[in-house]
Amino acid sequence: MTNAQLDTPVLILGGGVAGLAAAVDLARRGVAATLIEREPRLGGRASQFCCKATEACARCGACRLGELLAQAAQLPQITIYTAALAVAAQPQNDGWQVDLAPQPGGEIGPGAGRPLRERTTLNTQAVILAVGGGAFNPAGKTRFGHGRVQGVFSALELEAMLSQGALGPDGLAPAKVAFIQCVGSRDASLGRLWCSRVCCGYALRMGRVIRKLLPDSEVTFFHMDVQDYGRAWEDELPLMRHQMRFVRAMPGEVTAGDGGPQVTYALAGEQAQKEGFDLVVLSVGLGPPNGASALGELFGAAKDDDGFLTADGGPAGVFVAGAAAGPRSLNESIVHAGLAASAAAVRVASLTEARHG
Ligand SMILES: Cc1cc2nc3c(=O)[nH]c(=O)nc-3n(C[C@H](O)[C@H](O)[C@H](O)COP(=O)(O)OP(=O)(O)OC[C@H]3O[C@@H](n4cnc5c(N)ncnc54)[C@H](O)[C@@H]3O)c2cc1C
Ligand code: SF4
Ligand code: SF4
Repeated sequence: MTNAQLDTPVLILGGGVAGLAAAVDLARRGVAATLIEREPRLGGRASQFCCKATEACARCGACRLGELLAQAAQLPQITIYTAALAVAAQPQNDGWQVDLAPQPGGEIGPGAGRPLRERTTLNTQAVILAVGGGAFNPAGKTRFGHGRVQGVFSALELEAMLSQGALGPDGLAPAKVAFIQCVGSRDASLGRLWCSRVCCGYALRMGRVIRKLLPDSEVTFFHMDVQDYGRAWEDELPLMRHQMRFVRAMPGEVTAGDGGPQVTYALAGEQAQKEGFDLVVLSVGLGPPNGASALGELFGAAKDDDGFLTADGGPAGVFVAGAAAGPRSLNESIVHAGLAASAAAVRVASLTEARHG
């Protein structure tokens, strides 16, 4: 049986904000693009985030996803397949021949896209890898007790609780909550020296949401530094320092206490102390994409020293967008995707000119 055939100037792998933003950018330049998402639904990590507005919008960036999905659905130059995976890729003349295979669970995603139904061979002039980054698995930092000590959650688990309305006066109502920052980031013992850039922001926003839901709760933020987010953040940070307790210390361990998890930490020049909490949240960072090596092998993409994908030093016609290229916020990923789309559009234009020219 032969594969279905498809030609597209640009193939985008990944239907998170970066892949969608790249597709929209290309379409607005008049360049057609095919986007494939390996999961049954579009949206990537952003689809897991709930709104963090309290008195006003917290600028978490999560509603950019809805905007991009709506824009992508309107633009006829964009074709989207969900539940689709690139399983083989061969360089050819001016680009790539890529074999796509349908994945299980193909259900139509919100607003745009349809599942890939059959094996398809696609010819393309440029490939954008927008496959996102991996979130650190907190079990890898055993001394913080995730999976062992009751009451210890990762930030993504807290996000799910907030999305489901499980936290608040009618649900789980912790009186004392601790956030531990830089879990899986800036950590020489793990060989992960980079700052993940997003976790100070998301932890402080979630802390503020908890204080709004449970005004009598106390939220403590164990940190080394607070990542700078520019002028708007500078205005908000002094207010947050009134709403939450900032402790400049990296906890040594989290253990099971009588009433909940206990955090051991030492302030500068002081003896270590133990403090009990009802809930401890591990602010996990971003790392290189899972499967970066497989993608590297498929398309020959290069990796930087930390293992993130990079277009530098890789084959012509392969570009990288969003968190696959390094830790980035949603807004930063969208901007980065615009750069990748622009580079892909230039390549398509120059190949077209050379053919006709
Ligand atoms: C715990 C946590 C909290 C965060 N909180 C915030 C926040 O509050 N605000 C903020 O701005 N940013 C936040 N971020 C960062 C944000 O998640 C990223 O900036 C954003 O998701 C990057 O978008 P992306 O499209 O590059 O990647 P992703 O959102 O990860 O999307 C990548 C997509 O590619 C798909 N994919 C993967 N491999 C393949 C493949 N081989 N073929 C096809 N598709 C593939 C994936 O299924 C996914 O849909 C947070 C990150 C984490 C880990
Ligand atoms: S940016 Fe975030 S906080 Fe603001 S409205 Fe959108 S989802 Fe809510
Ligand atoms: S953003 Fe904040 S919590 Fe995350 S790695 Fe950087 S300093 Fe640590």
